[in-house]
Amino acid sequence: MTETTGASPLAPEWLAVPSDLNALHAPMWAAGVERNDGGELAIDGIPVSELKAQFGSPLFVMSETDFRARARAFKDAFDAAFEDICGGVDVYYAGKSFLCTAVASWVAEEGLRLDTCSGGELAVAARAGIDGANLGLHGNNKSDAEINRALDMKLGRIVVDSLDELERVAKIASGRGEVAKVMLRLTPGVHAHTHEFIATAHEDQKFGLSMAGDSTEEAGLSAAEEAVAAATAYDSVELLGLHCHIGSQIFEPEGFALAAEKLLTFLAAMQSKYSITLPELDLGGGYGIAYTPVDTPRPAAEIAQAMAAVVRSTCAQLGITSPRISIEPGRAIVGSSTFTLYEVGTLKTVRVDAPEAAGAAENVTFPRRYVSVDGGMSDNARPVLYDADYSAVLASRTTLAEPQLSRVVGKHCESGDIVVRDVYLPADVAAGDLLAVPGTGAYCWALSSNYNYLARPGVVAVRGGTARWIVRGETEEDLLNRDMGVANV
Ligand SMILES: *Cc1c(COP(=O)(O)O)cnc(C)c1O
Repeated sequence: MTETTGASPLAPEWLAVPSDLNALHAPMWAAGVERNDGGELAIDGIPVSELKAQFGSPLFVMSETDFRARARAFKDAFDAAFEDICGGVDVYYAGKSFLCTAVASWVAEEGLRLDTCSGGELAVAARAGIDGANLGLHGNNKSDAEINRALDMKLGRIVVDSLDELERVAKIASGRGEVAKVMLRLTPGVHAHTHEFIATAHEDQKFGLSMAGDSTEEAGLSAAEEAVAAATAYDSVELLGLHCHIGSQIFEPEGFALAAEKLLTFLAAMQSKYSITLPELDLGGGYGIAYTPVDTPRPAAEIAQAMAAVVRSTCAQLGITSPRISIEPGRAIVGSSTFTLYEVGTLKTVRVDAPEAAGAAENVTFPRRYVSVDGGMSDNARPVLYDADYSAVLASRTTLAEPQLSRVVGKHCESGDIVVRDVYLPADVAAGDLLAVPGTGAYCWALSSNYNYLARPGVVAVRGGTARWIVRGETEEDLLNRDMGVANV
């Protein structure tokens, strides 16, 4: 007998028992995903059973339409909000969240630019034919080869992360008889968390130039100011402006606004002290998405307007013309465009002591069902890395079965191999059923691995009712490709 419960005392407080297990909570899903007349999950009318039959599982299923719409929505919302302040906003899609040549080309077609943070990501951009002028390069430890590649591709901006790197970029550019276009990444001491932000004077992290206190080099100057002074002095560097990135999966606009205020104040001070103009200010990415029903992302327009209000009033207060603003959303563009399709294999239910807080009598245990799927931490490392929460639905059919607290786990040799820590799934979920986990477009495929020699899943893009590989899944041949063979032993 399958044991069913209503609300389980083992569930986290935030997790409600869904009133309808077959329903889709819209903010978590790509446009075009719905249940068809037969009750099966479908995207643009293509049922998941068809995707499974044609492409296998696990499978990343991405709506190209949804991706493009979210990219455009950011561009349009920020352009509208900042039109009268700085003539619009340059939106750089953060390629590290998910990148392949198809996605790079969609980004360009929708009028966005592209952020990269390695030579490999630059190679993808180059293969996609992206104009170097529309590319940025990040990273706290760029190699000489990466800096040279950026100069070869005539990159629109290299975001310099440290004084060391500034010197290195200046030297390399000088050796080539060129001028590198540079932004300086500053750490404004604003750390945004999902539902609040904290402001600290000092920075204790690997990224960026601190705006606080004295740099170790020159008394009285922060590392950030020292970099401005140095960058201004190099003939081989054109200092475009300043950059910051305060965190990820942020819902409230206050953190962005505070960072904008801090950077504008600093920018104004530098302009007047060094008699320079810094024409650009990048406020980074980090806009949150819905992974579970309790996540409440704000529409791009709302964030854009809140940020624009602060930029407008701060510039007026400082008596400066606003620099051209840029932003770098990754997750908020690609995250919700994609779900992962898995097939259920084994199931088991264990009995667990009630947590003390639940106030249950001693010796009372509650069921937790483990639902194993054909992927796991190799295609979604975020639960393991960040304790990230996800959600899941039974995708291959509807059911009237009762909700049962479940834990979706992978097939890896690791007990921490969890895909969805806590979710109510129908009690009749069985081997052969298909599950869909929404919100897997960002930092899932990008972080995927071959742990246990699992082939990494491919990514299928759906548009106008057709599905096609944009990155094919790995084969056994791929898995053995780099193995030099027994002949070399
Ligand atoms: C990761 C990153 C982003 C994108 O962050 P999201 O949370 O995906 O929007 C933007 N800028 C920089 C510098 C980053 O490191």
